[in-house]
Amino acid sequence: MGSARKLEGLMMANSANLNFSGGPGALPPPVLAEASEAILRAPGTNQSILGISHRSDYFKAILQESEALFRELLTIPPDYHVLQLQGGSSLQFSMVPMLLLRGKGKTAEYLKTGYWSAKSIPDARLEGPVRVLFDGEAGGYTRLPEEGELTYDTQAAYFHYVSNETVEGLQFHHLPGSPAVPRICDMSSDFLSRPLDIGDFSLVYAHAQKNLGPAGLTLVILKDSLLNNAPDHLPSMLNYRNHVEMGSIYNTPPVFSIYVTLLVARWLRNSIGGLEKMASLNEKKAEALYGFLDRHPDFFQIHGAKKDRSRMNVVFRSPSPELDQTFLEEAAAAGFYGLEGHRSLGGLRASLYNSVTEEDVNRLLEFMDGFQTRHRSGKGKS
Ligand code: PMP
Repeated sequence: MGSARKLEGLMMANSANLNFSGGPGALPPPVLAEASEAILRAPGTNQSILGISHRSDYFKAILQESEALFRELLTIPPDYHVLQLQGGSSLQFSMVPMLLLRGKGKTAEYLKTGYWSAKSIPDARLEGPVRVLFDGEAGGYTRLPEEGELTYDTQAAYFHYVSNETVEGLQFHHLPGSPAVPRICDMSSDFLSRPLDIGDFSLVYAHAQKNLGPAGLTLVILKDSLLNNAPDHLPSMLNYRNHVEMGSIYNTPPVFSIYVTLLVARWLRNSIGGLEKMASLNEKKAEALYGFLDRHPDFFQIHGAKKDRSRMNVVFRSPSPELDQTFLEEAAAAGFYGLEGHRSLGGLRASLYNSVTEEDVNRLLEFMDGFQTRHRSGKGKS
């Protein structure tokens, strides 16, 4: 009975349109099937997952298993906490400087490499001085700083950057920052897409709605020693210490998002086989799409510099805004969605998060090939 429903759910999910959105991103069809079953009845219970108490042993087991899985997937050392918080990544733009900059008499160093890192800076400035080490805005955020291009202050309060700029499609393929200063990273759009050495970071945050699960949950991994000199009088919800002490149930957590994220983490370990495997699949998908775009340079333009290309968000445009619009309409009719560029940039974007398969990408490429053939003669017209 359970498996019949699962199968039905799987079939429904498979026949749904393919999600290439920048976020909320695609989720694996088996996870969608399990999640829909759990809405009716959580495994091993007679209750909907939506009605399960966050104080129940059932939910505590969910939290424990998901923390254990994250620890396993990322080899997180014991002196790091794993927190499952709310408020999205945007709230981390404030919580980080509240902890590390407020009243410290030091300067924080930020990289401004795209729309999202630019958003993180004003909130930091509310808490103390910020030095922007690299500002890509004038160049239209088309490249990231090179290794060796930046000069770090070893006395800085901390160093903050965004590992993958979701809007512009730029991703760091090297590690910026200095070992002398706490390195803080917004990994919202490439977390769990490739292995990482958590020891390089003092704090990493990522909201769920790209590679992990539904919106409503933000994962924060932070080193315990970071909490040693927390300022007094932080609002209680904005104080990491409270969340650490209460094991991520300081107040009512997003139980469903946490549950679905656990299903995704299980899928990542059991079906994909871990982060090395995930990374090589992601590399193949990105190579296929960039390879196609590179073969049609007279039709498609890629936004970012080749060396900084994101494996998660492929940002490009066709010869004209009118053709971009036609592309979106034809793509929707062909069963693809979420291909519009971010509202700040326009153009097109195909996001290849973990759950997008090579087969999905091949289907998209087939469509794109047909599109460029059909519209090549009328470039600039729709
Ligand atoms: N950082 C990055 C890299 C993002 O892509 C986004 C949103 N897409 C955010 C932060 C903001 O996230 P949230 O909506 O969860 O606040």
